Amino acid sequence: MSDAPVLEVNGLTKHFPVRKGVILAKVVGHVRAVDDVSFELRRGETLALVGESGCGKSTTGRLVLGLMPATGGSVRFKGEEMAGRSKQELRRLRRHMQIIFQDPYASLNPRMTVGEILAEPMEVHGIGTPQERQARVGELLGVVGLLPEHARRYPHQFSGGQRQRIGIARALAVNPDMIVCDEPVSALDVSIQAQVVNLLHDLQRRFGLSYLFIAHDLAVVKHIADRVAVMYLGKLVEIADKRTLYARPKHPYTQALLSAIPTPDPAVKRERIILQGDVPSPLNPPAGCRFNTRCQYATDRCRSEEPKLRDAGEGQRVACHHFETVPAQGAIQGVGAMGGKFNERLAAFEAAKARRAGG
Ligand code: SF4
Repeated sequence: MSDAPVLEVNGLTKHFPVRKGVILAKVVGHVRAVDDVSFELRRGETLALVGESGCGKSTTGRLVLGLMPATGGSVRFKGEEMAGRSKQELRRLRRHMQIIFQDPYASLNPRMTVGEILAEPMEVHGIGTPQERQARVGELLGVVGLLPEHARRYPHQFSGGQRQRIGIARALAVNPDMIVCDEPVSALDVSIQAQVVNLLHDLQRRFGLSYLFIAHDLAVVKHIADRVAVMYLGKLVEIADKRTLYARPKHPYTQALLSAIPTPDPAVKRERIILQGDVPSPLNPPAGCRFNTRCQYATDRCRSEEPKLRDAGEGQRVACHHFETVPAQGAIQGVGAMGGKFNERLAAFEAAKARRAGG
């Protein structure tokens, strides 16, 4: 893996206007789907973007690919800014950035044979002669573990796992540098999920691909990601390399997500953190920290001041005012006991900070 970023995202924002009135002319608010999100994806790396449904991770994936215009911020692909490009220029850049969708059946045209589906991206980008494209289709089918004769069949003649392999082959057809994998295994049986994840891993090593891997299942992410970015209500709340994040999650939301992963060893007991209440509406997110309505450590500061991503060491960045004093996940024993202990830790931390500031 090289350190050079293939993708640099800075302050990416997407607000969808909410319209009312007979002709929907009046804008009455905005759904803040993605708000000031920044990260980078290195060459040959898998960065997982995780969070609950509706947190903005899929919208982020689509913004990165230029499939919808951003409200603000910057996306640089291989050093080139995506915003403000003509359709033609976007198409040129998009050749190198592809997407694999969650539902392979819905994303494959049922009236086209698999051969036509795989040849289409090459035609769109003017790659090769018809004979060369045909040869490439056979090659692609082999790369994803299908047979050359499958080119003559239609999508409905395949299983879910095979259809996802076709989706992967289609993404590979134009030799991309980066693939946005949007929940690529969520619709598959657990036994098939592992096969598709292993295939993605093999292809990454073989072709030096970078993956932006969008998922809600942290157990799947653990197998494929190099780094993990956690989103909550349109905001990035924590980003770290996989080992650090799974061993020492610092944001209370990340801790809650990780506590919900079942442990394979029944002897290992993990305290499940049950989040109270529902995810607030992105139309009217809470002031201050967006997680404050569900966070057991929330203070008055959390309700008024929005936390920025701060360095927590070893490449880990956390958007929480109090991550230094939030107990480590492993130390958590019970919700009732936690609040009191946290307040003691917070008071001691703030006092030490004040002493340091006072000289
Ligand atoms: Fe909880 Fe406050 Fe941290 Fe937000 S900033 S996660 S409310 S402790």
